Amino acid sequence: MKSDPNCIFCKIVAGDIKSDLVAQDERTVAFHDIAPAAPLHVLVVPRNHYPDAAAVEDPADLQAMFLMARRVVRERGMEDTGYRLVLNTGPHAQQSVFHVHLHVLAGRQMSWPPG
Ligand code: 5GP
Ligand code: ZN
Repeated sequence: MKSDPNCIFCKIVAGDIKSDLVAQDERTVAFHDIAPAAPLHVLVVPRNHYPDAAAVEDPADLQAMFLMARRVVRERGMEDTGYRLVLNTGPHAQQSVFHVHLHVLAGRQMSWPPG
């Protein structure tokens, strides 16, 4: 497994830093964002460390992230009103944690375009 000893999300994956876990499977871990931007705001990360979405080497990790996002929304019965999946990638997108993470946002009306 790819891991970076200085990465906060790798530490969450390893259980070295506490998080509010939502679900996990072989490839991914889902936990509540520490600063929620919607009634449901979950981050889905691959267990493998990749700095951002563009750096993901194994497409099965991308697939697993999207399937986990769908599962999280479905398990809360929130799929009917829609939800937003976001991959902030790089400085212009204001990515702040450089372990790829899929934001899962649900439970309120969203606006477009995003800021
Ligand atoms: P980004 O801006 O990189 O797309 O998103 C990073 C997200 O990680 C932010 O929404 C931020 O609130 C969240 N975050 C940063 N540090 C932690 C942490 O230690 N625990 C959790 N649960 N979320 C974090
Ligand atoms: Zn990492």
